[in-house]
Amino acid sequence: MPPPEPARADDSRPTPAWHALEGDAVLQQLHTTARGLSAADATARLERHGENRLADTPPVPLWRRVARQFDNLLIWVLLAAAAITVAIGHGIDAVVIVAVVVLNVTIGLIQEGKAERALAAIRNLLAPRAHVWRDGHLVEIDAAHLVPGDIVQAAAGDSLAADVRWLQVHELQVDEAALTGESVPVDKRADPVPTEAMLGDRRSMGYAGTLVTRGQGRGVVVATAMATEMGRIGRLLQDVGDTTTPLVRQMAQLGRWITLVVLAAAALLFVFGWWVRGLPALDTFMAAVGLAVAAIPEGLPAIMTITLAIGVQRMAQRRAIVRRLPAVETLGCVTVICSDKTGTLTRNEMTVQQVVLADGLVDVEGVGYAPTGALLRGDVPLQPAELWREAPALLALAEGAALCNDAELLQGEGGANDWRLSGDPTEGALLTLAMKAGLDPVRLAEERPRVGVLPFESERRYMATAHRRGDGAGTRIDIWVKGAPERLLAMCSHELDAHGRPQPLRRAEWADQVERQARQGRRVLAIATGTLPSHRPFTHDAVAGDLVLVGLVGIIDPPREEAKAAVAQCRAAGIRVKMITGDHVVTARAIAHQLGLGSGAPALSGQAIEALDDAALREAVQTTDVFARAAPEHKLRLVRALQANGDIVAMTGDGVNDAPALKAADVGVAMGHKGTEAAKRAAAMVLADDHFATIAHAVEEGRTVYDNLRKVITFLLPINGGESISLLVAVLFGLALPIAPVQILWVNMVSSVALAMVLAFEPTEADVMRRPPRQPGEPILSRFVLWRIGLVSALFAVGIFGVYRWALDAGHPADVAQTLAVNTLVAMEIFYLFSVRYLKAPSFTWTGVRGTPRVLAAVAVACGLQALFTYAPFMQGWFGSAALPLPLLALSAGAGVAVLAVLELEKALLRATR
Ligand code: ATP
Repeated sequence: MPPPEPARADDSRPTPAWHALEGDAVLQQLHTTARGLSAADATARLERHGENRLADTPPVPLWRRVARQFDNLLIWVLLAAAAITVAIGHGIDAVVIVAVVVLNVTIGLIQEGKAERALAAIRNLLAPRAHVWRDGHLVEIDAAHLVPGDIVQAAAGDSLAADVRWLQVHELQVDEAALTGESVPVDKRADPVPTEAMLGDRRSMGYAGTLVTRGQGRGVVVATAMATEMGRIGRLLQDVGDTTTPLVRQMAQLGRWITLVVLAAAALLFVFGWWVRGLPALDTFMAAVGLAVAAIPEGLPAIMTITLAIGVQRMAQRRAIVRRLPAVETLGCVTVICSDKTGTLTRNEMTVQQVVLADGLVDVEGVGYAPTGALLRGDVPLQPAELWREAPALLALAEGAALCNDAELLQGEGGANDWRLSGDPTEGALLTLAMKAGLDPVRLAEERPRVGVLPFESERRYMATAHRRGDGAGTRIDIWVKGAPERLLAMCSHELDAHGRPQPLRRAEWADQVERQARQGRRVLAIATGTLPSHRPFTHDAVAGDLVLVGLVGIIDPPREEAKAAVAQCRAAGIRVKMITGDHVVTARAIAHQLGLGSGAPALSGQAIEALDDAALREAVQTTDVFARAAPEHKLRLVRALQANGDIVAMTGDGVNDAPALKAADVGVAMGHKGTEAAKRAAAMVLADDHFATIAHAVEEGRTVYDNLRKVITFLLPINGGESISLLVAVLFGLALPIAPVQILWVNMVSSVALAMVLAFEPTEADVMRRPPRQPGEPILSRFVLWRIGLVSALFAVGIFGVYRWALDAGHPADVAQTLAVNTLVAMEIFYLFSVRYLKAPSFTWTGVRGTPRVLAAVAVACGLQALFTYAPFMQGWFGSAALPLPLLALSAGAGVAVLAVLELEKALLRATR
């Protein structure tokens, strides 16, 4: 009989009330077992049900996207101007204005599309993963490949990728706010609930898009993709937040103000010219329209959006995925980066190097997860087969290491040394140790089946398991506990001696051994054992107090080389780096030292942080760089303390409990590999590779984006300024306009946009990471930028007016003089583009003059467009332009060179007087 098809969105059959069925019945109906599907079955089901994805929101229709472009005051001003020009019989001008509007809308559409595509690509990088049992192994897969019947495993911090019926839960709590709006996490159970239970009361179910906040659970997938509850209500998870940033909003606002002010000024100008000066109404009206067009920075918002999108794309290429756009700007202001240690600053490749037993040390040879390497006492190798006699305590420790462990090591195809880890690296290191001691973890787990587990939590810092040993009357339950030594020492009363017999615990000696291991930068774990009385439930209380300490293991996790360089780079950039770790204080300090960190005050432990009040903590964070034995709640206090001191804080995190600190930080940074979905959702940025160096790269890119935004503004505003001044002067003095309104439109919407686009792609300036961080409140139109805009506006106005008057005086006709003015303006823009690429540094370096290929291409495009404008008969008809003889072109170019020369002189003066 073919398996019945589970519910699909287009299925008219009612979905079984999975929540009301017993777990076994659900498994049966879905033709699966508690051990999961085979890979072949999963593939077949995937074909039948399709990928587990919610359908994308339908694309916005073209007309709507076009309509959106008209949500712009300027467009309406232009259309009104076109209507009036038609009314007064200037048909050609109207056509040109409308053509320019169409061109602008088209450019807007293309740019918007580009920016959106860039962001959508980034959204895809954040595709969720799921842990699922396939062929009897727990594997991590792309959540899109989940199928009904899959057995999934979820733990605190995971988001559920499909609807599941829970089969087994341990203190499981799920936040279902995304689905039900209920903000308090709900306890989950494996027992059925009444059929009529509402969505929010179905304790036996977990729904796609919701977040596990506590505990663990195993469940069977009952619905995927559009058949899930989330799919039914057609709600998409908002993955990437805001699509704009404070700065861009600010500039859009500024643009609106400029538009209003300019409109008022244009009206005044019209009244003044027509009434006071007695100029012809038509000419004055055209001058007023010209002024409006000249003064409004039409292209600015679109180019700013593109600059941001390109910055975000570049960050993604460097493996920093921005989830919230404003973070791009904030990154440039960051003054402190608080980083986790394990996996971010270090490699997270754990290897046990030494074992401490009551009667001495055992060195462990080998690196990585391959179980090859001898165990040495002194210089003498121990024989695994003889351990039960030669070193019973070591054998006991190896058993504990293998049993109290959720990781799995699988041999790859790359030879004897190719072993792959599935699970936590610390546990992987312990499994390798157990195998070096001659144990087979799989067989051991079968001989001593696990009957209870208290999973590792970073607050408790230990993990405990219970195992049945023996049969019938001889059955007893062993407890194995592993975790942070100071926790375990407090839970033990005895230690195992050289013969494997319990003796009273020598606390001070062990504490001393822990310190010695830690001083070498090793992560230290203690392993203890005990027996569970048959009547007692397996709880945290049951394992506290009466355990027998078996020994310690010292694990190395070497620092990442790139992290060392990145820490130095951050320091040069005026950014302090702080390390926050769950590890032992002494270990943390040793690693910090290797990374070039923590030369300041001594490391502070989580306990010490708790003892400080907020004021004292504010004081302490100024000098302390290493925080050890810290729990997630300490991270939140650290962020607040740093922020209270005026710092802009980037904070990394991976666990579900890190979410509040990630949210509170100015830039929350989640780990892409190690991080939970909860941390990723709370973060503004996700590191695709978990490396600290990636944060430094992101800061560098953040600073570059800001530089480029500033260059775009500094480039575009003086063009408007120069044009407005020329027009104002002309009308005020009753002179003819040096550039006609339609010609201004041409310059603003075509030539300038083509040139300004390259600034969005500008590469990073050499000194970006040698400057101090930008002040967060610093206006982008700083005094310097305003001065530069004013200066260049004046130069442009002089250039435009100068060549225009000169041409008239030299006897050239008016259309030639105007065409000369337009070409001169564009030439000045081109040379200014080279200047603006380096706001303060000289542009006359070889790289500066040569520019990037992109700059040269833009210049070629602008020149080509100008040639069309000047020499193509149809353009001459439209824009009233005229062919220029070569000497006049040379004059335009000369004006451009002059502008560049003046600006280089200004830069040199500024540098000299600094
Ligand atoms: P960092 O904060 O630098 O990233 P971390 O997050 O790995 O470090 P935790 O995972 O909180 O730090 O570990 C803190 C301590 O808990 C470790 O020093 C170790 O003693 C203990 N520990 C770590 N992993 C386990 C585990 N799987 N089982 C038991 N104890 C563990």
